[in-house]
Amino acid sequence: MSDDVHEVYAVRYASHARKRSENYIFGDPHDEMTSIAYYVWVIAGPHGVFVCDTGFDQAAAKARGRKIIKPVGEGLKALGIEPDHVNHVICTHMHWDHAGNYDLFPTARYHIQDAEMAYATGRCMCHQMLRIPFSESDVTAMVRKVFADRVEFHDGVEELAPGVTVHKIGGHSKGLQCVRVKTRRGHVVVASDCCHLYSHIDEGRVFPITYSVGDTLEGYKTLLKLASSRRHLVPGHDPEVLNLYPAAKAGLEGWVARLDAEPKT
Ligand SMILES: [Zn+2]
Ligand SMILES: [Zn+2]
Repeated sequence: MSDDVHEVYAVRYASHARKRSENYIFGDPHDEMTSIAYYVWVIAGPHGVFVCDTGFDQAAAKARGRKIIKPVGEGLKALGIEPDHVNHVICTHMHWDHAGNYDLFPTARYHIQDAEMAYATGRCMCHQMLRIPFSESDVTAMVRKVFADRVEFHDGVEELAPGVTVHKIGGHSKGLQCVRVKTRRGHVVVASDCCHLYSHIDEGRVFPITYSVGDTLEGYKTLLKLASSRRHLVPGHDPEVLNLYPAAKAGLEGWVARLDAEPKT
């Protein structure tokens, strides 16, 4: 394997049934039930393992009425990754469903955008409406990591290893970042909440939780530029990801998908 080519995996840990109309600003004409999936992602290559986002734990799931299918740590272990030994965690943004489980990676360094930390700890959090997707305990845990010298701040575009770069997109959360990874099939973009569902980017629609609608829509253009093609873009909450990509190995169907494999068309 060359020095900058990585494997990429999506590990689903939870799901949530909701009305389709709840997924879009201006709702949806089809008012039926649907579900969204919750993932963390794994980037593995010659420079080690990067875990992208940390999900939420049972207590947070209970508090917000979500259902954990397999805890994040179990999904990582299914890939042979011991959370205790993970050196790098990329935090795409600090929403509760991406930045919980904050004790799961005791030795990791966390990669986050300046703008996200400023947003989650600054004046915007005085507004109840903007606070909703954040958890005080997740945010304070990240502040403690800063004081423990375990956080690496990024501003815009940064290379974490050859073939792995983070890119500030903003929009849905002010300092939201995506991750671009060089793989055997080209550049895959782990979009996280820069694009919740395929329908958001395909139809130019926006998820209701957003700091800036304009930045979200502009962000879709950036994502498509960063990915080798639309088929290299991986949305953050679409259950379809598990149908499109093969399981990481036998027995992990519907749980862990391999994103550097070709998706079904
Ligand atoms: Zn989010
Ligand atoms: Zn999310």
